[in-house]
Amino acid sequence: MNYSVAPIGFVRSCFKEKFAIPRQPQLAPAARGVLELLPPFDNGDAVAGLEQVSHVWLLFLFHQALEDKPRLKVRPPRLGGNTSMGVFATRATHRPNGIGQSVVRLEKVEAGRLLLSGIDLLDGTPVLDIKPYVPYADAVSSATNQMASAPPAPISVAWSDTALPQAREHALRLAEPLVELIEQCLAQDPRPAYQIPPPERVYGVKFWDVQVRWHYPQPDQIRVLEVVMDL
Ligand code: SAM
Repeated sequence: MNYSVAPIGFVRSCFKEKFAIPRQPQLAPAARGVLELLPPFDNGDAVAGLEQVSHVWLLFLFHQALEDKPRLKVRPPRLGGNTSMGVFATRATHRPNGIGQSVVRLEKVEAGRLLLSGIDLLDGTPVLDIKPYVPYADAVSSATNQMASAPPAPISVAWSDTALPQAREHALRLAEPLVELIEQCLAQDPRPAYQIPPPERVYGVKFWDVQVRWHYPQPDQIRVLEVVMDL
């Protein structure tokens, strides 16, 4: 039996590619985006009362990871990428029905759109539903998870003399906390766990409309090289 679902809106996000998006929400509080609601949910009635909550659950589609043939086992990056686990033991993007869920901060409610932060969603992500976060029911103080018992340890992020002023200038132009966004996302160490990059190897990613480039002077250290307009 099949059921069909349709998006109630799409996210406009600071993250323009999958690389360097934190693996869970809340890890980068400076990661901001807007959920733009589609008709008939865009007229204010559908979100009336939502201004009373600080966080919402978003149920969404991993639209850039949809697959015809469901996987039973996956190799989560969190476990180094070489340990295979049952798909239902993980939060992997490749999963039956491709449904993701994130608790994100609700910054502002407007008719037709929600301003969000702490997101881990790619630009253009289709959202299937929004639900208010209910602390007494959703925060389980006795919960355990032996695979992911704590957030990943952050690595150090330093700036070159040119990159920091560039980032500050783009932050002003965009009216976004770009310096914090770069530091918070790169501190998660986006490179695949098996890569030990030589210092001359340069990595890059697009946040908003800028390219951020960095390298690893030491394997556990990032240095941001430049933050330039993505042309
Ligand atoms: N918090 C969600 C969950 O647990 O269902 C997502 C967790 S998933 C491990 C997070 C990763 O999904 C991000 O690092 C990003 O690379 C990827 N991602 C985010 N939005 C996506 C989308 N629309 N399509 C495919 N991958 C996406």
